[in-house]
Amino acid sequence: MRGGDAPPRAPLDGAEPLHTAEPVTFDADGLTPPLSIPPFTGESVALWARSEPGTCFALTSLVDARGRAWVDQRSAGPSCTGCEVRTSIAQEEALFVLPGGEGFTPREGFTVRFGLVACETLTPVKASGAPRLQLAWLPRASLPERGRLPLRFLVSRHSMLLGQPERQRELLERLNDELAEAGLEVTLEAVAELPDAAGETRFWTTELAGLSALRDGAPPAPDATVDIVFAGCLWYDDPFFGPPVPVDGFTPRVGGGAGPASAVFMPGLRCDAFGGAPVQWPLDAYAHVLAHELGHFLGLYHSVETDGTTDRLGDTGEQNIMNANPGRAGARGWSPSQKRRLLSHPWVRPVP
Ligand SMILES: [Zn+2]
Repeated sequence: MRGGDAPPRAPLDGAEPLHTAEPVTFDADGLTPPLSIPPFTGESVALWARSEPGTCFALTSLVDARGRAWVDQRSAGPSCTGCEVRTSIAQEEALFVLPGGEGFTPREGFTVRFGLVACETLTPVKASGAPRLQLAWLPRASLPERGRLPLRFLVSRHSMLLGQPERQRELLERLNDELAEAGLEVTLEAVAELPDAAGETRFWTTELAGLSALRDGAPPAPDATVDIVFAGCLWYDDPFFGPPVPVDGFTPRVGGGAGPASAVFMPGLRCDAFGGAPVQWPLDAYAHVLAHELGHFLGLYHSVETDGTTDRLGDTGEQNIMNANPGRAGARGWSPSQKRRLLSHPWVRPVP
Protein backbone atom coordinates (compact mmCIF):
# COMPACT_ATOMS: atom_id res chain seq x y z
CA MET A 1 0.00 0.00 0.00
CA ARG A 2 1.35 3.42 -0.83
CA GLY A 3 1.91 5.59 2.22
CA GLY A 4 -0.46 8.23 0.99
CA ASP A 5 -3.31 5.73 0.81
CA ALA A 6 -3.09 4.49 4.36
CA PRO A 7 -5.51 6.25 6.66
CA PRO A 8 -3.74 7.95 9.57
CA ARG A 9 -3.80 5.84 12.68
CA ALA A 10 -6.43 7.12 15.07
CA PRO A 11 -4.38 8.36 18.01
CA LEU A 12 -7.20 8.05 20.49
CA ASP A 13 -9.44 5.26 21.54
CA GLY A 14 -12.07 7.85 22.42
CA ALA A 15 -15.66 7.80 21.30
CA GLU A 16 -15.33 10.77 18.95
CA PRO A 17 -15.28 9.57 15.34
CA LEU A 18 -12.29 10.10 13.07
CA HIS A 19 -13.40 11.39 9.67
CA THR A 20 -11.35 10.61 6.60
CA ALA A 21 -11.32 12.16 3.14
CA GLU A 22 -10.59 10.38 -0.12
CA PRO A 23 -6.83 10.42 -0.87
CA VAL A 24 -5.78 13.25 -3.18
CA THR A 25 -2.72 13.88 -5.34
CA PHE A 26 -0.36 16.85 -5.32
CA ASP A 27 -0.70 18.49 -8.73
CA ALA A 28 2.17 19.47 -11.02
CA ASP A 29 2.62 22.72 -9.08
CA GLY A 30 2.93 20.75 -5.84
CA LEU A 31 -0.50 21.67 -4.44
CA THR A 32 -3.39 19.51 -3.32
CA PRO A 33 -6.92 20.43 -4.39
CA PRO A 34 -8.92 22.27 -1.71
CA LEU A 35 -10.09 19.84 1.00
CA SER A 36 -13.22 20.78 2.91
CA ILE A 37 -13.77 20.17 6.59
CA PRO A 38 -17.55 20.41 7.03
CA PRO A 39 -19.14 22.22 9.97
CA PHE A 40 -19.06 20.28 13.23
CA THR A 41 -20.19 20.61 16.80
CA GLY A 42 -17.19 21.44 18.90
CA GLU A 43 -14.47 23.89 19.75
CA SER A 44 -11.39 22.56 18.03
CA VAL A 45 -10.33 20.07 15.42
CA ALA A 46 -7.21 17.99 14.89
CA LEU A 47 -6.11 17.29 11.31
CA TRP A 48 -3.85 14.39 10.37
CA ALA A 49 -2.23 14.65 7.00
CA ARG A 50 -0.12 11.82 5.71
CA SER A 51 1.82 11.63 2.51
CA GLU A 52 4.67 9.36 1.45
CA PRO A 53 8.13 8.72 2.90
CA GLY A 54 10.59 11.43 1.92
CA THR A 55 7.81 13.94 1.27
CA CYS A 56 7.65 17.26 3.12
CA PHE A 57 4.67 19.58 2.94
CA ALA A 58 3.03 22.53 4.63
CA LEU A 59 -0.47 23.79 5.22
CA THR A 60 -0.46 26.46 2.53
CA SER A 61 -4.08 27.56 2.58
CA LEU A 62 -6.68 27.79 5.33
CA VAL A 63 -9.91 29.59 4.43
CA ASP A 64 -12.82 29.76 6.83
CA ALA A 65 -16.55 29.46 6.00
CA ARG A 66 -16.82 33.27 5.66
CA GLY A 67 -14.11 33.30 3.02
CA ARG A 68 -11.43 34.74 5.23
CA ALA A 69 -7.94 33.40 4.51
CA TRP A 70 -5.95 32.58 7.65
CA VAL A 71 -3.09 30.98 5.77
CA ASP A 72 -2.49 31.78 2.13
CA GLN A 73 1.16 31.41 1.23
CA ARG A 74 3.11 28.74 -0.55
CA SER A 75 5.99 29.32 1.84
CA ALA A 76 3.73 28.82 4.88
CA GLY A 77 5.04 27.17 7.98
CA PRO A 78 6.20 28.17 11.42
CA SER A 79 8.08 31.26 10.23
CA CYS A 80 5.35 32.52 7.87
CA THR A 81 5.00 36.12 9.02
CA GLY A 82 1.95 36.73 6.82
CA CYS A 83 -0.01 33.78 8.24
CA GLU A 84 -2.44 34.34 11.09
CA VAL A 85 -2.34 30.69 12.10
CA ARG A 86 1.11 29.17 12.50
CA THR A 87 1.62 25.51 11.64
CA SER A 88 4.58 23.16 11.37
CA ILE A 89 6.18 21.70 8.29
CA ALA A 90 5.19 18.06 7.88
CA GLN A 91 7.65 15.30 7.14
CA GLU A 92 5.73 12.39 5.65
CA GLU A 93 2.89 13.04 8.08
CA ALA A 94 1.82 15.58 10.67
CA LEU A 95 -0.84 16.51 13.14
CA PHE A 96 -2.25 20.04 12.97
CA VAL A 97 -4.43 21.07 15.89
CA LEU A 98 -6.68 24.03 15.09
CA PRO A 99 -8.43 25.46 18.13
CA GLY A 100 -10.94 28.24 17.82
CA GLY A 101 -10.05 31.65 19.15
CA GLU A 102 -8.52 34.91 17.95
CA GLY A 103 -11.50 35.18 15.58
CA PHE A 104 -11.09 31.79 13.93
CA THR A 105 -14.13 29.50 14.35
CA PRO A 106 -13.30 26.09 12.87
CA ARG A 107 -16.72 24.65 13.78
CA GLU A 108 -18.29 26.65 10.92
CA GLY A 109 -16.24 24.55 8.51
CA PHE A 110 -13.19 25.52 6.47
CA THR A 111 -11.05 24.55 3.51
CA VAL A 112 -7.39 23.58 3.50
CA ARG A 113 -4.75 22.96 0.86
CA PHE A 114 -1.31 21.48 1.32
CA GLY A 115 1.79 22.27 -0.70
CA LEU A 116 5.00 20.36 -1.18
CA VAL A 117 8.24 21.86 0.15
CA ALA A 118 11.83 20.71 -0.16
CA CYS A 119 12.76 18.79 2.99
CA GLU A 120 16.19 20.47 3.24
CA THR A 121 15.37 24.08 2.41
CA LEU A 122 11.63 24.14 3.21
CA THR A 123 11.01 26.14 0.04
CA PRO A 124 8.04 25.32 -2.23
CA VAL A 125 8.68 22.68 -4.90
CA LYS A 126 6.75 21.22 -7.79
CA ALA A 127 5.59 17.63 -7.59
CA SER A 128 7.47 14.78 -9.19
CA GLY A 129 5.68 11.46 -9.38
CA ALA A 130 2.33 12.76 -8.11
CA PRO A 131 2.64 11.92 -4.41
CA ARG A 132 -0.63 11.37 -2.61
CA LEU A 133 -2.00 12.80 0.59
CA GLN A 134 -4.59 11.40 2.94
CA LEU A 135 -6.39 13.70 5.35
CA ALA A 136 -8.35 12.75 8.44
CA TRP A 137 -9.84 14.94 11.13
CA LEU A 138 -11.18 14.64 14.62
CA PRO A 139 -13.38 17.38 16.07
CA ARG A 140 -13.25 17.87 19.82
CA ALA A 141 -16.75 18.44 21.17
CA SER A 142 -15.80 20.46 24.21
CA LEU A 143 -12.64 21.55 25.90
CA PRO A 144 -12.12 20.05 29.33
CA GLU A 145 -11.39 22.35 32.24
CA ARG A 146 -8.55 19.99 33.13
CA GLY A 147 -6.71 17.40 31.11
CA ARG A 148 -4.33 14.51 31.62
CA LEU A 149 -1.42 13.64 29.37
CA PRO A 150 0.39 10.28 29.59
CA LEU A 151 4.19 10.32 29.26
CA ARG A 152 6.83 7.67 28.73
CA PHE A 153 10.42 8.31 29.86
CA LEU A 154 13.11 6.92 27.56
CA VAL A 155 16.34 7.12 29.53
CA SER A 156 19.79 6.80 27.99
CA ARG A 157 22.84 5.81 30.02
CA HIS A 158 24.11 9.38 29.59
CA SER A 159 21.22 10.79 31.58
CA MET A 160 21.26 11.73 35.23
CA LEU A 161 17.89 9.94 35.52
CA LEU A 162 19.18 6.47 34.64
CA GLY A 163 18.37 3.98 37.40
CA GLN A 164 17.02 6.82 39.58
CA PRO A 165 13.27 6.15 40.02
CA GLU A 166 13.13 8.51 42.97
CA ARG A 167 14.58 11.37 40.93
CA GLN A 168 12.25 10.54 38.03
CA ARG A 169 9.27 10.75 40.37
CA GLU A 170 10.49 14.04 41.76
CA LEU A 171 10.89 15.44 38.24
CA LEU A 172 7.33 14.39 37.43
CA GLU A 173 6.06 16.13 40.56
CA ARG A 174 7.81 19.39 39.72
CA LEU A 175 6.63 19.14 36.13
CA ASN A 176 3.08 18.88 37.40
CA ASP A 177 3.69 22.00 39.54
CA GLU A 178 4.70 23.83 36.35
CA LEU A 179 1.65 22.61 34.40
CA ALA A 180 -1.03 23.05 37.07
CA GLU A 181 -1.88 26.62 36.03
CA ALA A 182 -2.63 25.36 32.51
CA GLY A 183 -5.05 22.74 33.84
CA LEU A 184 -2.74 19.97 32.69
CA GLU A 185 -1.56 16.95 34.63
CA VAL A 186 1.00 14.44 33.36
CA THR A 187 1.28 10.80 34.37
CA LEU A 188 4.23 8.45 33.90
CA GLU A 189 2.97 5.38 32.04
CA ALA A 190 6.26 3.64 31.39
CA VAL A 191 10.02 3.98 31.68
CA ALA A 192 12.38 2.28 29.25
CA GLU A 193 16.14 2.43 28.89
CA LEU A 194 17.99 3.30 25.71
CA PRO A 195 21.19 1.29 26.11
CA ASP A 196 22.64 2.17 22.71
CA ALA A 197 21.77 5.87 22.52
CA ALA A 198 24.65 8.08 21.40
CA GLY A 199 26.35 10.31 23.98
CA GLU A 200 26.32 13.27 21.59
CA THR A 201 23.65 14.06 19.02
CA ARG A 202 23.89 16.80 16.43
CA PHE A 203 20.74 17.91 14.66
CA TRP A 204 19.16 20.82 12.89
CA THR A 205 15.65 21.95 12.02
CA THR A 206 15.58 19.79 8.90
CA GLU A 207 18.21 17.24 10.00
CA LEU A 208 16.45 15.10 12.55
CA ALA A 209 17.89 11.66 11.77
CA GLY A 210 20.18 11.76 14.81
CA LEU A 211 17.27 12.51 17.11
CA SER A 212 15.09 9.82 15.51
CA ALA A 213 17.91 7.30 15.95
CA LEU A 214 17.94 7.85 19.72
CA ARG A 215 14.60 6.02 19.97
CA ASP A 216 15.67 3.12 17.74
CA GLY A 217 16.15 0.66 20.59
CA ALA A 218 12.94 1.61 22.41
CA PRO A 219 9.90 -0.69 22.68
CA PRO A 220 6.96 0.40 20.46
CA ALA A 221 5.34 3.54 21.83
CA PRO A 222 1.99 3.15 23.56
CA ASP A 223 -0.84 5.01 21.83
CA ALA A 224 -1.30 8.71 22.49
CA THR A 225 1.63 8.87 24.91
CA VAL A 226 4.39 11.48 24.68
CA ASP A 227 7.92 10.09 24.63
CA ILE A 228 10.41 12.15 26.64
CA VAL A 229 13.88 11.14 25.51
CA PHE A 230 16.63 11.79 28.09
CA ALA A 231 19.61 11.70 25.77
CA GLY A 232 23.26 12.62 26.13
CA CYS A 233 24.40 16.04 24.93
CA LEU A 234 22.20 17.62 22.25
CA TRP A 235 23.81 20.06 19.85
CA TYR A 236 21.85 22.34 17.55
CA ASP A 237 24.14 22.46 14.52
CA ASP A 238 23.00 25.10 12.04
CA PRO A 239 25.14 24.56 8.92
CA PHE A 240 24.79 28.21 7.90
CA PHE A 241 25.31 29.94 11.21
CA GLY A 242 28.07 29.62 13.78
CA PRO A 243 29.35 26.68 15.79
CA PRO A 244 26.99 24.05 17.26
CA VAL A 245 25.26 25.13 20.47
CA PRO A 246 24.04 22.89 23.29
CA VAL A 247 20.26 23.02 23.83
CA ASP A 248 18.38 22.67 27.11
CA GLY A 249 15.57 20.78 25.35
CA PHE A 250 14.20 20.36 21.83
CA THR A 251 10.84 19.43 20.32
CA PRO A 252 11.08 18.96 16.55
CA ARG A 253 7.32 18.82 15.94
CA VAL A 254 5.18 21.67 17.23
CA GLY A 255 1.82 19.95 17.55
CA GLY A 256 3.46 16.56 17.98
CA GLY A 257 1.85 13.20 17.52
CA ALA A 258 2.84 12.18 14.00
CA GLY A 259 5.89 12.06 11.80
CA PRO A 260 9.53 11.28 12.52
CA ALA A 261 11.15 12.46 15.77
CA SER A 262 7.74 13.20 17.27
CA ALA A 263 8.96 13.35 20.87
CA VAL A 264 10.51 15.72 23.39
CA PHE A 265 14.29 15.51 23.60
CA MET A 266 16.13 16.56 26.73
CA PRO A 267 19.91 16.55 27.28
CA GLY A 268 20.65 14.02 30.02
CA LEU A 269 23.12 16.36 31.67
CA ARG A 270 24.15 20.01 31.39
CA CYS A 271 26.54 20.06 28.48
CA ASP A 272 27.25 23.79 28.49
CA ALA A 273 29.59 23.68 31.50
CA PHE A 274 32.43 25.84 30.26
CA GLY A 275 35.65 23.89 29.91
CA GLY A 276 34.47 21.11 32.18
CA ALA A 277 32.67 17.79 32.16
CA PRO A 278 28.85 17.76 31.92
CA VAL A 279 27.12 18.36 35.24
CA GLN A 280 23.69 17.51 36.63
CA TRP A 281 20.67 19.73 36.07
CA PRO A 282 18.94 21.25 39.06
CA LEU A 283 15.55 19.51 38.96
CA ASP A 284 13.52 22.74 39.17
CA ALA A 285 15.17 24.24 36.10
CA TYR A 286 14.94 20.89 34.30
CA ALA A 287 11.20 20.56 35.02
CA HIS A 288 10.65 24.15 33.84
CA VAL A 289 12.33 23.49 30.49
CA LEU A 290 10.47 20.20 30.12
CA ALA A 291 7.14 21.98 30.69
CA HIS A 292 8.11 24.50 27.97
CA GLU A 293 8.96 21.61 25.60
CA LEU A 294 5.63 19.92 26.32
CA GLY A 295 4.04 23.25 25.41
CA HIS A 296 5.67 22.91 21.97
CA PHE A 297 4.60 19.29 21.63
CA LEU A 298 1.01 20.25 22.32
CA GLY A 299 1.07 23.03 19.72
CA LEU A 300 2.50 26.21 21.26
CA TYR A 301 5.11 28.39 19.61
CA HIS A 302 7.38 30.80 21.44
CA SER A 303 5.37 33.77 22.69
CA VAL A 304 8.05 35.92 21.08
CA GLU A 305 10.76 34.37 18.92
CA THR A 306 14.30 35.76 19.01
CA ASP A 307 13.58 37.41 15.63
CA GLY A 308 10.46 39.11 17.01
CA THR A 309 7.87 36.78 15.41
CA THR A 310 4.99 36.22 17.84
CA ASP A 311 2.69 33.29 18.46
CA ARG A 312 -0.35 35.26 17.16
CA LEU A 313 -2.06 34.91 20.53
CA GLY A 314 -3.59 38.04 22.05
CA ASP A 315 -2.73 37.36 25.68
CA THR A 316 0.95 36.33 25.67
CA GLY A 317 4.17 38.31 25.80
CA GLU A 318 7.75 38.17 27.02
CA GLN A 319 6.73 37.18 30.56
CA ASN A 320 5.62 33.70 29.67
CA ILE A 321 6.95 30.17 29.99
CA MET A 322 6.94 29.98 26.17
CA ASN A 323 9.53 32.76 25.99
CA ALA A 324 12.22 31.68 23.50
CA ASN A 325 14.51 31.44 26.52
CA PRO A 326 12.52 29.71 29.27
CA GLY A 327 15.46 30.05 31.65
CA ARG A 328 15.08 33.82 31.67
CA ALA A 329 13.79 35.52 34.81
CA GLY A 330 10.06 36.17 34.43
CA ALA A 331 9.60 33.50 31.75
CA ARG A 332 6.84 31.83 33.73
CA GLY A 333 3.12 31.16 33.57
CA TRP A 334 0.56 30.21 30.92
CA SER A 335 -2.12 32.45 29.41
CA PRO A 336 -5.80 31.46 28.95
CA SER A 337 -5.39 31.04 25.18
CA GLN A 338 -2.30 28.90 25.67
CA LYS A 339 -4.29 26.76 28.10
CA ARG A 340 -7.01 26.40 25.46
CA ARG A 341 -4.45 25.22 22.93
CA LEU A 342 -2.82 22.72 25.26
CA LEU A 343 -6.16 21.18 26.19
CA SER A 344 -7.18 21.01 22.50
CA HIS A 345 -4.52 18.46 21.65
CA PRO A 346 -6.19 15.10 20.97
CA TRP A 347 -3.72 13.26 23.21
CA VAL A 348 -4.92 15.21 26.24
CA ARG A 349 -7.70 13.24 27.94
CA PRO A 350 -10.36 15.10 29.88
CA VAL A 351 -10.23 14.81 33.66
CA PRO A 352 -13.78 14.42 34.94
ZN1 LIG B 1 11.19 26.50 22.86
